[in-house]
Amino acid sequence: MSITAPAPHFDGAGRIRVADHFYRDPGPGELRIRIGANAICGTDRKEYTQGVEIVPGHEAAGVVESAGPGTTLPIGTRGAIYLMDFCGECRSCSVGATNQCSAKRQDVGQTSDGGYGPYAIVHETNFFPVTEDVSLVAATMLLDVMGTSTHALGRAELVRPDTQSVLVVGAGPIGLGLAAMAKVRYGHDFPVYVSDISEFRLDLAARLGARPVDARDEASILALRPDIAFDSSGKTVARETALRSLGQRGALICVGHGEGLGIDVSRDLIAPERAVLGSEYFRFDEMPENLQALRDNLDYLSSIVTHTVDVAELPAAFELFLSGRTGKVVVTQEVTP
Ligand SMILES: [Zn+2]
Ligand SMILES: [Zn+2]
Repeated sequence: MSITAPAPHFDGAGRIRVADHFYRDPGPGELRIRIGANAICGTDRKEYTQGVEIVPGHEAAGVVESAGPGTTLPIGTRGAIYLMDFCGECRSCSVGATNQCSAKRQDVGQTSDGGYGPYAIVHETNFFPVTEDVSLVAATMLLDVMGTSTHALGRAELVRPDTQSVLVVGAGPIGLGLAAMAKVRYGHDFPVYVSDISEFRLDLAARLGARPVDARDEASILALRPDIAFDSSGKTVARETALRSLGQRGALICVGHGEGLGIDVSRDLIAPERAVLGSEYFRFDEMPENLQALRDNLDYLSSIVTHTVDVAELPAAFELFLSGRTGKVVVTQEVTP
């Protein structure tokens, strides 16, 4: 049965209006998910300020409420929604690179209704079930915080398998995820430096065990000589400093979208044999390993979530997040079985 239910509409200029929204029946291979949690992301700023037709929210977790023909997951299955509704058949998908699908059907919460509303309709192939010990709030960590960062760590290992230190540029949610997942992957004593200009965010990074560095202190950053630098800031000046800070055979992994990067090819790349790689979201097949990492480090990783806010307070949740004085802010809704 189709459902009409109140959902937040983003009208632009920070206006969020609750109005009835129509949710159709799930079609073949599709599930209708009752949303329980959706984490606010920096990229939501665009929808918040410019407005959008669909109901946004792309870091969602919920419960299967209704299942279309040809699906196998039972009603009541809890899980996280993978952003990209990948085709499963193109050249990228055939080797598991679902984040590079060339025939993507939707981006859930960006081009189709997402997790700030009560429901989302997704293909079963991009819904990832979680175990009972993982709450829906924690399940949202499997997406941008853990998924995007673990994929970036994997990209770095392609060119630098003997990494002994890491610099993370920017201590927003992705940067915090990178710092935390580097610790989870390489051990708590592994040196992870995090640079930012916000003392609040540097404190959060320090609480995760990272070594905070003031991003304005260029000399200190250049002296670090990390094997890998991850840029989550998207800022040209920060990327260029990170690239020049690298030791020999170092790699800069660009994770945050944004500005450009100037490269002196001889000095920055050829002589020190450095690499610059991009890293976009993550592969669906990386989720099982990340779920295990989440279950093994539930308290540590959950500390990245500093606020949970009921969906009725969505405008206040956005103001809080955009103030910059938060880690991850997760918007919750009651899921009645
Ligand atoms: Zn996001
Ligand atoms: Zn594909």
